[in-house]
Amino acid sequence: MSLCDLTLEDAHAQLQEGQVSSAELTRALLDRIAALEDQVNAFLTLADPESIMAAATRADARRASGEDTPVLGIPIAIKDLIHIKGIPTTCGSRILEGFIPPFSATVIEKLEAAGAVFLGKTNTDEFAMGSSTENSAYGATHNPWDLQRVPGGSSGGSAAAVASRMAFAALGSDTGGSVRQPAAFCGVVGIKPTYGRVSRYGLVAFASSLDQIGTFGRTVTDAAILLNVIAGYDPRDSNSLQAAVPDYQVEIRDVEDLAGVRIGIAQEYLGSGIQPEVEAAVRVAITRLQDLGAELVEVSLPHTEYALPAYYLIAPAEASANLARYDGMRYGLRVRGNDLRDTYQQTRGNGFGPEVTRRIMLGTYALSAGYYDAYYLKAQKTRTLIKQDFDRAFEQLDVIVGPTAPSTAFKIGEKVDDPLQMYLSDIFTLSMNLAGICGLSLPCGFDHQGLPIGLQLMGPALGEVAVLRVARAYEQATEWHRRQP
Ligand code: GLN
Repeated sequence: MSLCDLTLEDAHAQLQEGQVSSAELTRALLDRIAALEDQVNAFLTLADPESIMAAATRADARRASGEDTPVLGIPIAIKDLIHIKGIPTTCGSRILEGFIPPFSATVIEKLEAAGAVFLGKTNTDEFAMGSSTENSAYGATHNPWDLQRVPGGSSGGSAAAVASRMAFAALGSDTGGSVRQPAAFCGVVGIKPTYGRVSRYGLVAFASSLDQIGTFGRTVTDAAILLNVIAGYDPRDSNSLQAAVPDYQVEIRDVEDLAGVRIGIAQEYLGSGIQPEVEAAVRVAITRLQDLGAELVEVSLPHTEYALPAYYLIAPAEASANLARYDGMRYGLRVRGNDLRDTYQQTRGNGFGPEVTRRIMLGTYALSAGYYDAYYLKAQKTRTLIKQDFDRAFEQLDVIVGPTAPSTAFKIGEKVDDPLQMYLSDIFTLSMNLAGICGLSLPCGFDHQGLPIGLQLMGPALGEVAVLRVARAYEQATEWHRRQP
């Protein structure tokens, strides 16, 4: 077994026992990246090997002087929407060409303080708009389980890096499913925490009322460990929550069964439009949860069908405002025109790709005078109804279960010309962002082509512990997470 195949938890245990050094782990991952990255294209920027090795050596020195954290000396990957001071942030877009952030995101500062080693910045759909990573201006990422297929998106680079063992864990961001859906497509675990659980300071904004940084790992524990490091209040993010952060790793350590846990099954998440093998795998997983002692409860989330239209008004509306700052004056690309206005037009016209342009136009339209009430306001009211569906359900439930995505990974090129088909890929994940609650995807099977299937567990606001406990119990009772691409 290669060092790359260790879980983060086991790599940490070996570091603690002195069986391995961070320098050795990091070297193994760099070799792995050298062998696979040409085929996978998970990274947009790799930190230079010398500085990566220097960070590993520093971590080893910290450990030698008696320090320990769950990620001290652990190499991880970061979605290229999160700033690391001094390393380019591209957001998968041409418009940020040449931009080097002068500060690090709060999550990066926390990881640095804990001694994690950053391997590089991972590929993403441009400004996180997409479900396949094909909207990156720097080429698609390939799914490690089948290189002809997408890894999902928008955090496809992070999911693919973890699945192909080029990183022990990774950060992504999830505005409508961008951690959970690629986790499902790549057969890894992905957590979207409650809105406000993790600081967004230094995360490039897509849709500010929906964006949340999340974690990827090959096991529930690994993803939980990383979440522990980054979670918590940050005065620099005005929507950040003050609530104390539980020790997730401890909370899930001794889970054996699910006695006393009430798990909801929503018919709206198990009906038409789902690939039959996905539905079958999810139904088997549900009986597994029952075998583990959980009580299953039928529940209805009646406004589910409005989540997609509401999201595709709210997210583009917020994006159109957030992306107004890319004007060619302050950051990145500048295409000089005849005058100021022409420079704006040339810069934005050349810098943004087609999907981002579509969203800006949709969003600007939805917010414009005369249409605001008909579209944006209505979408916001719908959002409240969707949130109330969950509030009502969670009065009597701990967790709700369903599929993460309606299908397994599709072929590269299959949906690029049909935005609506692409948008449907997030039909089961968008609602959690609209409601501000938490969700997780973990592997629950494979289709006949050997592609991973994701099980989604949804929890109430700050219900991460409940979700993680169910996930961990299921993972311990199954072998899916042991398969390798
Ligand atoms: N796929 C969805 C979109 O394109 C969600 C993206 C995300 O979560 N960042 O908007």
